[in-house]
Amino acid sequence: MEYREDGKAEMSAGKKLGHTVYVGLGSNIGDCEGYLDFALKKMAGHPRIELDRVSTFIRTKPVGPVEQPDFLNACARLQTSLEAGELLIFLQQLEQEAGRTREIHWGPRTLDLDILLYDDLVSDDKTLTLPHPEMHKRLFVLEPMCEIAPEAVHPRLGKSMAKLREDLMKVE
Ligand code: ATP
Ligand code: CA
Ligand code: CA
Repeated sequence: MEYREDGKAEMSAGKKLGHTVYVGLGSNIGDCEGYLDFALKKMAGHPRIELDRVSTFIRTKPVGPVEQPDFLNACARLQTSLEAGELLIFLQQLEQEAGRTREIHWGPRTLDLDILLYDDLVSDDKTLTLPHPEMHKRLFVLEPMCEIAPEAVHPRLGKSMAKLREDLMKVE
């Protein structure tokens, strides 16, 4: 699947996109692949976002207390001129458009879009914690991250995605 729009690379060549961001995608209700494709297309189509790398989609077992269907997970790398808060609002709009409802915390969802890393920003803000507070504990995040950016460094832990994955595999 090709997410880059015709002419977009050329258009953005003269434009400062500035920030490098990794987004985690997940879905476990309905047409999971369709929801991930929808989100990737919408991100790629945003005038202030360039989607430059997408992992393969992987099937994963749900973690946590809620009994629910398997997930389809992926990660994407974006270049954007949106500030972190603006990007979060845009991603939440996409979740809404995909029919996401918030009934049970960590429950099944059509589309979940988490900001994993935003440059090397570190934030303890509850509405936007960076890096994503659970990313280093989740293989369904680290596997696709290692595919697209094994060298990316977690700014709080000072370790690469490859190292975090290796550490997690030892624990599990
Ligand atoms: P988890 O965050 O453990 O993966 P979840 O994705 O199910 O759980 P949500 O219900 O989607 O959680 O989001 C709850 C809140 O998390 C959102 O309203 C959002 O403001 C906040 N949040 C904090 N940090 C982030 C982040 N890095 N990316 C996305 N949302 C975040
Ligand atoms: Ca999540
Ligand atoms: Ca989320």
